Order: sequence, then C-alpha cells, then structure tokens
Amino acid sequence: MGRRHEPGGMETTRQSTKESGNKGCLCIPSYVQRRGEQEPPEPEGEPQQTALDKWQDRWKATEAAEERQWTRRLIRDVRAWTGRRFGEVDFHITQALTGHGCFAQYLHRLGLLDDAGFWFCEHLNDDPNHTFFECNTWYNKRRELNMLIGEEVIAENLVSNMINSKDKWNAISNYIHYVLTKKENEDRRRKGLPV
Ligand SMILES: [Zn+2]
Repeated sequence: MGRRHEPGGMETTRQSTKESGNKGCLCIPSYVQRRGEQEPPEPEGEPQQTALDKWQDRWKATEAAEERQWTRRLIRDVRAWTGRRFGEVDFHITQALTGHGCFAQYLHRLGLLDDAGFWFCEHLNDDPNHTFFECNTWYNKRRELNMLIGEEVIAENLVSNMINSKDKWNAISNYIHYVLTKKENEDRRRKGLPV
C-alpha cells in the first residue's frame, strides 16, 4: 500500500493528472482509474480510511447522470476497488466501467449516431449491459468467460470478480477487449474506414 506516502509523491500526482487529462473519461474520478497515483486530497492528518469512507458514502448517495449510475452499479465499494493490489485500468476497461465509448446508446445521446440500436443484433438499445452481459453475438465467448470465472458474470459481480484474483482480472479484461475491439471494427467499417 501507500505510494502516496513515498517521498516525491506530490510530483508523481501532478504529472499523472496531466496525463490522464487526455483520456476523456468524464465519469470515474481519475483517482479511481489510476489506483494509488491520484488519491482524493485529504486534510492534514486525516486517516485514509476516513476519507475513503466519506467518498464511499458520497458515491452511494449521489443522484447522478445515467452513466454514473452504471458505474455505481459496477463499482459497488470504492474502498475495495481502490485498495486492490493489481489490475491496470486501460482504455477499454475505462469504456466498460463508464459506458463512455463504443456504445450506440451513448453515441446517439451525443448526437453522433442516428439511433441507439445495437449493431450486431435487433436489440434497440446498445448500452454496456446489453453489450457485455446479454447479447448473443458473443454467446460462446461469454460462456467461456463464465466457466473461467465460475459463475455467470453480470454487472453486479463484474468488479468483485476482477479484484478477486489476477487470473479473473485477466479473463474479464480479455473479454472486454474482445468485445470492444469487435465493436470498434464495426464502427470503422460503418464509417468506411479500413478495419
Ligand atoms: Zn444483442
């Protein structure tokens, strides 16, 4: 634990703030994405647990935009999430956790797509839940994942499985990459770009 207690930690924090400013994630606070590098500012002398507890209370209580509710459905306990000892949150995982990304519902809301229907089936609303947990398009891939994880992966247990072990993190991360890469390729194909 405790990168933040190392000498020179402030410098690290400032630099990574700059870096993550380019990632375009509007939903999870940057210190959730980049564990250990950007903690919420704490008053002098306040124990870490107290600050995290407060954040957890706020996390649960905030009435927020639709997509933040999605993130809250996934990250049910910010203390367990930030306290994990492994697991890099990369571009695709950020998309999965925020719902900001290659989801027709999201792109439609931004005015970038005419309708919110899923690209691979008849489903009318391409949101992250349908993309990852419902769609039959990747039924076999999801079945494989569920067997590796040992239960049916759903929104409510995705993150708890991810932080349960490195193997589970990797299995879920691979699944997310697989699905979102397929969707990105389809997006490119639809725009007439090379895939
Ligand atoms: Zn579907």
